[in-house]
Amino acid sequence: MGRVVFLGTAHSIADDHHNNTHLVIQEGDRAIMVDCVGYPLLHLRRAGVDFHQITDLILTHFHPDHASGLPLFLLDMWLLHRKAPLTVHGIPHTIDRAEEMMHLHEWETWPGFFPVDFHRVQEVEDATILEDTNFRIHSSPVKHLLPTIGLRFDLRKSGKSVAYSSDTEPSPALVRLASGVDVLIHEATGSGIGHSSPEQAAQIARQAGAASLYLVHYPPDTNPDQWIGEARKGFSGKIILAQDQMDIPLD
Ligand SMILES: [Zn+2]
Repeated sequence: MGRVVFLGTAHSIADDHHNNTHLVIQEGDRAIMVDCVGYPLLHLRRAGVDFHQITDLILTHFHPDHASGLPLFLLDMWLLHRKAPLTVHGIPHTIDRAEEMMHLHEWETWPGFFPVDFHRVQEVEDATILEDTNFRIHSSPVKHLLPTIGLRFDLRKSGKSVAYSSDTEPSPALVRLASGVDVLIHEATGSGIGHSSPEQAAQIARQAGAASLYLVHYPPDTNPDQWIGEARKGFSGKIILAQDQMDIPLD
């Protein structure tokens, strides 16, 4: 059974109940982690995901609240004797820096490291990240403060589809990428350069024809009724303020 589970839902400042936004999406024997922050193995454990199941990591952009957990994630899995390979996907701007960050930690000298493959994704609309019997995953550039991608996951077995905005202003490319999805996960930091308000997120959901909208990357002291109320002005479908460890079944 496919599912999405939220490992974090806060904007760049976390609190006791909200980690920075990152998530896992699973279908069949493939589990994709999207962004990597804080203490990743603890967040995975809280969400009931075994780190051995994670086959791929997609980094949407190289801001600290999305990518800074990578060294600790890799170090801890190595110390816990992971042997299975991991592929880290992202556009060149992100992957160049992720590799450099690992180089600064001199990970080349850590003996017996499990295989980690860095995959550079084209920074163009509807770029293919991976296609297999479980997933078809594509990305498009969105509008943030540095090169950033939004994501679309088509689950082969369940036929469900999920899109994730990452951090962005309202983005026509994301509307195209997210066309007709069952679940749109959209940031709702608040209006401002490089980000979206709940109402703007809702307008994207309506334009894309999404069936449901999950708001993430919000200030942790957000009043849920206020954020959902603002989103309701732009979208008549289901609207949820996502919470850490919340699970969306996809079957
Ligand atoms: Zn962010």
